[in-house]
Amino acid sequence: MNTFDYYRAATLVEAFALMRDKTNYTLLAGGTDLLVKFNEKIMNPKIVLDLGLIKDMREIHFEGIGQVTLGALVTHTQVMESQILQKYAPALVKASSMVGSPQIRNRGTIGGNICNASPAADTVPALIALGAQIELTNEKQVRVIPLEELFLGPGRTVLQTGEILTKISLKALKPDQGSGFEKLGKRKALAISVVNTGVFIEVDSKTRAINEARIALGSVAPTPIRIKKAESLLLGKVLSPTLLKDVASVVASEIKPIDDIRSKAEYRRDVAGELVKRAVEEAWNKASFLG
Ligand SMILES: Cc1cc2nc3c(=O)[nH]c(=O)nc-3n(C[C@H](O)[C@H](O)[C@H](O)COP(=O)(O)OP(=O)(O)OC[C@H]3O[C@@H](n4cnc5c(N)ncnc54)[C@H](O)[C@@H]3O)c2cc1C
Repeated sequence: MNTFDYYRAATLVEAFALMRDKTNYTLLAGGTDLLVKFNEKIMNPKIVLDLGLIKDMREIHFEGIGQVTLGALVTHTQVMESQILQKYAPALVKASSMVGSPQIRNRGTIGGNICNASPAADTVPALIALGAQIELTNEKQVRVIPLEELFLGPGRTVLQTGEILTKISLKALKPDQGSGFEKLGKRKALAISVVNTGVFIEVDSKTRAINEARIALGSVAPTPIRIKKAESLLLGKVLSPTLLKDVASVVASEIKPIDDIRSKAEYRRDVAGELVKRAVEEAWNKASFLG
């Protein structure tokens, strides 16, 4: 590993002061992605700025206006243990619980999972399905964008020099809404996803027809994507085995995955349809008026 200058900020103000006038710094959260890159010399940072001590960015809040917020430094373990998220964002809890090993989940953060911009990041499809908005903050202002607009390609985002991802906001699930997450990795533990998917649906409590749907997929394109054609197919309909089958075929035909060391494109296409089917069923079953 190369040597670098290391700074640690205890507050956001301190972090921005340290970032000022520097262009070649690397932000560090839990370090679970970065340290691998440093060790393998994929990255040779000159300056590392550790955000890990910024307490405000480690908190999860139910805002009381149907909104849940998570600081970017919230770890996967915190997500799994949060009663707020278990109740209001179960697909995210499931996604975090499937990240790596307990050691990785104890250190790895939601913000790191997002900003690493891997197409296979597990929490991202769950968050997109849950309608996540993110706050990108610099010394002077905060801009809020939908999470799905952050990604430009593998490892590339719209995050600018001087900006930090500070917060993620979600609309808390209501009783007639449900979410689901499914992942296929190569092995049970420590597996990076071959395909992963997050689903959100809202069901009309009288007619049982689906009146809102979001389906997000990871590992099937250079960035996590939504399959809007499959979402539209669900709208206005009651879930049935035929509808699920149709949704799975639309998903398989809409994506253009690639062959890589983890999987063949053809296999990814079939798996994606099947995983979406399961996640839609999970979301439907969790819309609590049914249960
Ligand atoms: C053995 C192993 C298994 C893994 N398994 C999985 C898995 O199953 N699923 C999965 O999705 N991931 C997996 N990962 C990847 C990794 O653990 C997660 O992506 C983790 O959430 C990264 O968070 P971190 O805090 O460690 O990020 P870091 O390594 O600290 O940072 C990652 C990137 O994000 C940037 N960054 C971090 N925080 C911010 C911020 N607040 N604002 C702006 N930029 C920021 C950093 O500059 C860096 O580019 C695995 C990693 C390892 C080593």
